Amino acid sequence: MLLSVIVPIYNEEEIIASTFSTLEKELADIEHELIFVNDGSTDNTRSILEALLEHTPQNKLINFSRNFGHQAAFSAGMQHAIGKAIVIIDGDLQDPPSLIHEMLQKWKEGYQVVYAQRKKRRGESLFKKTSAFLFYRIIHFLTNIEIPPDTGDFRLMDRVVVDQLNKLPERSRFLRGLVCWIGFKKTGVLYERAERKAGVSKYPFRKMFRLAIDGITSFSTTPLKISFLIGLFTTMVSFVVLVWSIYEKFTHPETTVPGWASLMTTIIFFGGVQLISIGILGEYIGRIYDEVKQRPLYIEDKT
Ligand code: UDP
Ligand code: MG
Repeated sequence: MLLSVIVPIYNEEEIIASTFSTLEKELADIEHELIFVNDGSTDNTRSILEALLEHTPQNKLINFSRNFGHQAAFSAGMQHAIGKAIVIIDGDLQDPPSLIHEMLQKWKEGYQVVYAQRKKRRGESLFKKTSAFLFYRIIHFLTNIEIPPDTGDFRLMDRVVVDQLNKLPERSRFLRGLVCWIGFKKTGVLYERAERKAGVSKYPFRKMFRLAIDGITSFSTTPLKISFLIGLFTTMVSFVVLVWSIYEKFTHPETTVPGWASLMTTIIFFGGVQLISIGILGEYIGRIYDEVKQRPLYIEDKT
């Protein structure tokens, strides 16, 4: 099998038939399998898909028992994919299937990850655009993996990359980040993101926020260490206050309220000490977290 195309689907009854026929038409002269991952749809998506796939035995349908989310759907699709190249694509035709040819071309040139980079986003709210913009900048600042800006999950991956992804045991999977973390030779192809052809976005703010938090926390322990820095800062301030209040007490004893100096310094000092201690815990918890994720120490390309 040359190509596996993974399509996560959640409540897309209005559009799934046209997604299916567009993909089949586009890939007619390429040896391929379509893997639809029905992420616990509650509408007629499942029966429509079952009917569509009846006469194409190479295609697969994975039904989840409930909604487990987009990222889980990719993981399931990748476990079942047998192609030499694997493409993941949204099921709402926002990602143009015609781009797959260009991706395959790059793949044949030797790139192992070909991501689709958005030139333009059509039909998306200002809020979605700004939050996406901010998210990519924040994650870039907090982590040391380079997620190319303005890429979604629409991408082609070589078999070796997918095999590595399948081996990673960690549970909260932020695929865009993991693919970057794994390495290998990457390139992008530009495209204009179309509007959704039918239905509404299945990514409400709640899910988007969850994804953003997953993305940041799976690749950075910086938030755990912030309290250490704040603690260091407040303890330093407390020493300044200490010196100043003692100085005040001896130079202007008539204006200082008795007990004020000692009270102030104690509060700030212990506040700082507590923050530092939490920061030290954070340092260790960060390490435990890294161990628990059980990512390999390195990945070999060719030896
Ligand atoms: N999707 C999914 N599970 C979910 C949410 C979305 O499988 O919990 C699928 C959805 O059916 C679509 C793709 O993921 O094929 C992208 O979702 P959507 O188009 O709603 O996201 P947006 O393009 O608005 O970011
Ligand atoms: Mg969409």
